[in-house]
Amino acid sequence: MWYIAIFTALALLAVVAFFVLKGRERDEMRDLRSKTPNTGPGHVRDPLPDHAAKQKHTPAPHETGASGGTFRKEGLGAKVKELFGKGAAGEQTWKELEDLLIKADVGPTASADLVQRVKVDYAHGTDPVKLLATEIESILGQDEPLHLPKGRTGVVMVVGVNGAGKTTTIGKLAKRLVSEGLQVSLAAADTFRAAAGEQLEVWGKRAGANVVSQDRGADPGAVAFDAVKSAHAHGSDVLIVDTAGRLHTKTPLMDELGKVKRVIEKAGAQVDETLLVLDAQTGQNGIAQARAFTEAVEVTGVVLTKLDGSAKGGIVLAVREELGVPVRFVGVGEGADDLRPFEARMFSERLLSS
Ligand code: GDP
Repeated sequence: MWYIAIFTALALLAVVAFFVLKGRERDEMRDLRSKTPNTGPGHVRDPLPDHAAKQKHTPAPHETGASGGTFRKEGLGAKVKELFGKGAAGEQTWKELEDLLIKADVGPTASADLVQRVKVDYAHGTDPVKLLATEIESILGQDEPLHLPKGRTGVVMVVGVNGAGKTTTIGKLAKRLVSEGLQVSLAAADTFRAAAGEQLEVWGKRAGANVVSQDRGADPGAVAFDAVKSAHAHGSDVLIVDTAGRLHTKTPLMDELGKVKRVIEKAGAQVDETLLVLDAQTGQNGIAQARAFTEAVEVTGVVLTKLDGSAKGGIVLAVREELGVPVRFVGVGEGADDLRPFEARMFSERLLSS
């Protein structure tokens, strides 16, 4: 009899163990399913956020940091100290100071102005480098962020000659604005340069921005018009418009830029910022070129690209004085995070560092 009881108990135990194990397996399967995206036929993927900008992102410090540029240090501070260390400052000192500034790419107008300002405040025993730093910051004025409206699509037009770094700057700027939580659209209105549209598409994808483009040779005004409509339909916070740096048609470039601006307004938007992209390495030649743009369109700020490596920093002061426009951003490399808001204090420290 006793073995029947043991047999029954063992059978019961086996049945209980079977159900316990089965239950555990079911739980594990449920767990696994909930972690695996359902992509089989007839299934709908979990909706992805419809735009990267909606994913609130806290920018990493390297993305946000302002900069005065990472141009080559030329020891201007040490040279100025040496010059004033020779004895009482006379006419020769002021002339040599002006030469030092011109050599640093500050430009003739800004150099003469700076020397005048320092001359007025200088007394024997004052630190000439500190004085120069104060005057440089005063010429550059307050650092200004982009002025973008709230509650409607802000428009940033980007102009400049080919090769200055316009498309790259637009890509970097788009990434920066998206990482600040804004929804960004890009208009590929440079329909003349080969592959400009494709290049912008790549940057747009990288940044998480919506890109509106047409075939090469299309009317830039038509692209701008479509882009405004598309930006409105997407509820974009900002539309950045790339423009041609050179035309193959008889229409002068500056007239074309004016037309693009008028079309944007006709489409129901308004241009809030016009950024002129300027290659810092072109030095004073670049300033002359840039003047044509400032005379034709109302430039509200300059983006100085390639202010890294071998560029001379003084060009920043030349831009401010000769073009009368503030530097808003500096490009310090070819990477997506290499666009920084310009900061006058950091710039003057670097320019005057020994
Ligand atoms: P665009 O013709 O004005 O649109 O010029 P691109 O955007 O195509 O840029 C021309 C070249 O300059 C490319 O090789 C870019 O990678 C390079 N570039 C743009 N910005 C910077 C910068 O800030 N620093 C450096 N070193 N290169 C840059």
